[in-house]
Amino acid sequence: MPRKIAAGNWKMNGLQSTLAELQTLEAKHGDADIAILICPPFTLISACEDTPFDIGGQDCHTNEAGAHTGDISAEMLADVGASYVLVGHSERRTDHGETDAQVAAKSQAAYDAGLIAVICIGETLNEREDGTTLDVIDAQLAGSVPDTADALNTVIAYEPVWAIGTGKVPTTDQIAEVHAHMRARLQDRFADGDEFSLLYGGSVKGSNAANIFAVPHVDGALVGGASLTAADFSPIIAAL
Ligand code: PGA
Repeated sequence: MPRKIAAGNWKMNGLQSTLAELQTLEAKHGDADIAILICPPFTLISACEDTPFDIGGQDCHTNEAGAHTGDISAEMLADVGASYVLVGHSERRTDHGETDAQVAAKSQAAYDAGLIAVICIGETLNEREDGTTLDVIDAQLAGSVPDTADALNTVIAYEPVWAIGTGKVPTTDQIAEVHAHMRARLQDRFADGDEFSLLYGGSVKGSNAANIFAVPHVDGALVGGASLTAADFSPIIAAL
């Protein structure tokens, strides 16, 4: 059975005062039997060391170290207690022009540092309307997921770009179609393809989480806006 994961992506949000939210979450879900992953900004990672939650970075460089001003390596994330890293989030692909090849190289850098890569993929609204969603998913899975991936070092997050931060959510049939497709592709390519955790992301809230989690091959969620407060994130964790 794939591991169930409730993941929060804080994006460029969160100050030291925000960490109080984690204490509230800990009181409610500190002994949950699912994985709860928090991806705060880099500045807060080491301050999360004492939480019972898994901690992840939001990006890493492809190289281990070197002259790359402003960048963070996977080894640095591991060094301050992270066990996961998001790679290829659509905001990175858009804001920083990250390509599938770079996302694959970042995933490999994550593996080399002992981190689990949460590889994000998803179609734009134009691609959805053109009917090319599954082709886009195939190309991103082929290009962004290294051959060295396995169910222990990799989680796949399906995040339709048009659903991120918009309040728009695909129908459960649309999510089911993509998740079943991803599962089949992973099974074709990897011996343990049926064990990869597959997350859905994009406008997940307490009010829609249970419906989304009932979709076959949805093993959890990658949550942005609704992960920033314990009040919003807690019902999503409870639904999983
Ligand atoms: P959202 O973001 O939940 O705010 O839509 C999801 C994500 O970008 O991971």
